[in-house]
Amino acid sequence: VGKSAIAWTDMVWNPATGCTKVSAGCKHCYAERIAGRKLPGHGFDDRSFADVRFHPERLDAPLHWRKPRRVFVDSMSDLFHEKLTDEQIDQVFAVMALCPQHTFQILTKRAERMRAYCQALRDGKRHLGDALGDLGEDRIGTRLLVAQAYGVKPGDEGKPPYSSFSNVWLGVSASTQADLKHAWQLCNTPASIRFVSLEPLLEKMDLNALELVCKTWRRGATIGRYLDWVIVGGESGPKARPCDVTWIRLIVGQCREAGVPCFVKQLGSYAILDTRYDRTISGWTRRLRSRSGSDPAEWPEDLRVQEFPR
Ligand code: SF4
Repeated sequence: VGKSAIAWTDMVWNPATGCTKVSAGCKHCYAERIAGRKLPGHGFDDRSFADVRFHPERLDAPLHWRKPRRVFVDSMSDLFHEKLTDEQIDQVFAVMALCPQHTFQILTKRAERMRAYCQALRDGKRHLGDALGDLGEDRIGTRLLVAQAYGVKPGDEGKPPYSSFSNVWLGVSASTQADLKHAWQLCNTPASIRFVSLEPLLEKMDLNALELVCKTWRRGATIGRYLDWVIVGGESGPKARPCDVTWIRLIVGQCREAGVPCFVKQLGSYAILDTRYDRTISGWTRRLRSRSGSDPAEWPEDLRVQEFPR
């Protein structure tokens, strides 16, 4: 738990830690790098990053933050990792329901499980009211509190109207065009805000392919209908793979056309800049002063876009 250097959030909250790799985007996983440094508080002193653990003692942290914050859930894991149980995920969702003052941002590479879980929650097949026994609270009191947070009537506690998860944003990460094939899972995930994080961006990607994927499910859909937010950025770190800023520019343009807010997080540690757009650059690559390419002052002007969902 702590303040975050990630530009699109205020805090990180890690009720689970540890993860395993599932796609090309995971290759230089930032969380694994941090875990390898064995920083105090992350709990990786005696285990490897692949050892996924749930930390019930961390569940109550957001309940103590009175000031509204954007909270990135599980920056050091993936909440929908196969090693975490549905009951553990229930506990995280119940805490989020009890904290309407905060906005919780969940990002996964396990889009299928997120969809299935959220659909079960919406359909009343999961009962969050019983989920918080580990917080040491009286079960009936907690059940009523969760029910109140969802705005449901007594007796309906286990069936929150899904629309009341308005403080939970659900996102899927994709680094390649192939990753976007799983995007229909996100399109079918009930959520107040749905987003994709194209980071690290490893190749030229076309968001309109997502429109095509969704169209096969709901005729006439556009990306503006299914997406509320797009985050995009190049890879950071010593082994960063190249990111051509024209790929980022394409995403920014597609978002603009579809009316979807876009957040350019960073150009990455190996940004390939384009002299056609930025005449201050003498070659195709330039070493940026910011090691992760995260200082907008160093970017071509048209890429200085850091919007949030409306
Ligand atoms: S899913 Fe995320 S946290 Fe897990 S290995 Fe991949 S990049 Fe790291």
